[in-house]
Amino acid sequence: MRCAGSDAGALRSARSSESAVMAGSGGSSCTLEFAVQMSCESCAEAVRAALEGAPGEPHSECAPPFPPLFLPSPRPPHHIPLPAFPGVRLLELRPETQTVLLEAEVGAERVKELLESSGRRAVLRGMGVPAGSPGDPRGGDTTAAVAALSGGVRGLVRFLQVSPELCVVDGVIDGLRPGPHGLHVHEFGDTSEGCESCGDHYNPDGECHGGPQDEHRHAGDLGNVWADAEGRAAFRMEDTRLKVWDIIGRSVVVDAGEDDLGRGGHALSKLTGNSGPRLACGVVARAAGLFQNPKQLCTCDGLTLWDERDRAATSSPTAAPNPTAAPSPTVTPTPHL
Ligand SMILES: [Zn+2]
Repeated sequence: MRCAGSDAGALRSARSSESAVMAGSGGSSCTLEFAVQMSCESCAEAVRAALEGAPGEPHSECAPPFPPLFLPSPRPPHHIPLPAFPGVRLLELRPETQTVLLEAEVGAERVKELLESSGRRAVLRGMGVPAGSPGDPRGGDTTAAVAALSGGVRGLVRFLQVSPELCVVDGVIDGLRPGPHGLHVHEFGDTSEGCESCGDHYNPDGECHGGPQDEHRHAGDLGNVWADAEGRAAFRMEDTRLKVWDIIGRSVVVDAGEDDLGRGGHALSKLTGNSGPRLACGVVARAAGLFQNPKQLCTCDGLTLWDERDRAATSSPTAAPNPTAAPSPTVTPTPHL
């Protein structure tokens, strides 16, 4: 493989281009199905108001149906002056089934925050394109996948094939050092020896490593995600190379350092982007599309699917406090979505 050489001068423009992609608005829209805790019509109105950018006071007759212990933290659920999101459109709001269906051009995490500004907990239940719609590439089937990254660094990365040509990659990863981190699809869904057994970047075309906007790149090259001061990277990308049906059973790995997109001049630049040790990984599994996830919120104890996931993660004896620590080889991803 002729994967050598460098083009450091192009790095800055590549970063700028990628940042624009990371902004994640104005692109193709996905349909998101959320479960939102709505116990009465007033709850539904509060959710509707939040989506219109005007979250109101909590209703006295309709208190948030989950105990304060499980309020989203550190963001308080009320009084958040979120602006209206131009990239979010309400399709259906059904309080009787606690379902909200939206069309969004922004990341699912941002939509979730918007919904929760109403004071109600929200859980993404499914993601997709309506079956039979012009954007439905395969009859509404096998078009959504998810990888749960766990260990000291935790996250969820979702893949949605919105058309035969376009895959939306949407995710949130917590526990990272602030700054850029390389994110790649790797060839094997094998975490038996931690992330080291995931193999190389997924590269069915025999290309050299590159950036997500490059003509010549590994198919699995997703560039960088950027963690904020709290160590959270929330991102949404659109990719024309990846196909959901090609990557189910493979893996996603987030790295400790920045991916130089093949332009750094390091011996590893054209091979891996020289993005450092692997921090966390997860197997890509088929995910629920729209209306395919029968799981309901457990209103008896106020726990949601996310609470269950958080509780399981914090009780894990393998959770590493150091975000740069090597991932545990005993991690067994069990994505709900
Ligand atoms: Zn690569």
